[in-house]
Amino acid sequence: MKFATKAIHAGVQPDPATGAIMTPIYQTSTYVQDGVGNHKGYEYSRTLNPTRHALEQNIAAIENGKFGACFGSGLAAIDCVIKMLNPGDEVISTNDLYGGSYRIFKTIFEKYGIKFHFVDMQNTLEVEAHVNENTKIIWVETPTNPMMNIVDIEAMSRISKKAGALLCVDNTFATPYLQTPLDLGADIVMHSVTKYLGGHSDVVMGALVTSNKEVAKEMYRIQNSSGAVTGPMDSFLVLRGIKTLHLRMQRHCENGEKIAHFLKNHAKIDKVYWPGFESHPNHDVAKKQMRGFGGMISFTLKGNKLEDALDIVKKVHLFALAESLGGVESLIGHPATMTHASIPKEIREKSGVVDSLIRLSVGVEDADDLIADLQVALN
Ligand SMILES: *Cc1c(COP(=O)(O)O)cnc(C)c1O
Repeated sequence: MKFATKAIHAGVQPDPATGAIMTPIYQTSTYVQDGVGNHKGYEYSRTLNPTRHALEQNIAAIENGKFGACFGSGLAAIDCVIKMLNPGDEVISTNDLYGGSYRIFKTIFEKYGIKFHFVDMQNTLEVEAHVNENTKIIWVETPTNPMMNIVDIEAMSRISKKAGALLCVDNTFATPYLQTPLDLGADIVMHSVTKYLGGHSDVVMGALVTSNKEVAKEMYRIQNSSGAVTGPMDSFLVLRGIKTLHLRMQRHCENGEKIAHFLKNHAKIDKVYWPGFESHPNHDVAKKQMRGFGGMISFTLKGNKLEDALDIVKKVHLFALAESLGGVESLIGHPATMTHASIPKEIREKSGVVDSLIRLSVGVEDADDLIADLQVALN
């Protein structure tokens, strides 16, 4: 089955009780048994709930994986992966990781004896240099936030296989419509479903997908034992959201391309970070592993003045000033004072998060209106 068909049909069956075409919101904690141990596959909703189950199968299918699991947030999904490790184990990850991922690694798991290395993953030699017999996970995020760096998933998969480690890819920015890491050699795909999969800025949720039976067994054991599951109402909303993921992503990509070019040609703009430009340092890798370049764009202003950036994010009307991304509505953010405010200035500037950097999550509105909005704010 092709992507659009899977997005709409995978995991979803007419409700056996009524024929309802939409998977009902099974708002129940428990299930009546005919006799001890004689149940219909559901015993208790932390372990399994029919609405969540449909969504888990749907997300697994669109990622070309076999097993899916949904969690209360993207971070709860990350929490599950790292709980597969033991004290002494090591993780290699990227130095421009999503801030929340960095925080859970450093402030939650380091004290349990797990060691994290943060390296420049665009340089495979640097990744290889950190591999040792304790390396158990290579954790990739691509494209990265907010600098839109691209990591070569196939290259990371060669390193992880040689090391006997698992390759986990945070696929939040690309979505399976643009990139399917399991097809490129990844063992686990992770999502902040909150973003594009949900797509309507109304749910916080996370997901994991794998085709590896042993990993899946651990994943479900930890999901049930730690209990950071998502509820039936949110599962229903995301099942509905994913039905239009391909349509939304097509428009995010079209609008993203138009706005990236508009910004590139504007006299007040210095740099534009978008992997679709041939001048992007990893454009070739992006072209190889992605089917489109998405709607996430960052840019800086000539003169690099903080006041100018703050002025622009205040003056736009259609772009809402907010954290998060991936919804139908366009958002604008200022990483230096918002998402990356807790990082010391010298460190954030080294990775490119300068005072005038602005990040856009381009929505699915009319591109002309979005460009006009930016035009007014920039002038
Ligand atoms: C938002 C985000 C997360 C965390 O997900 P939550 O749903 O907010 O817990 C992880 N990785 C990336 C790339 C994100 O954008």
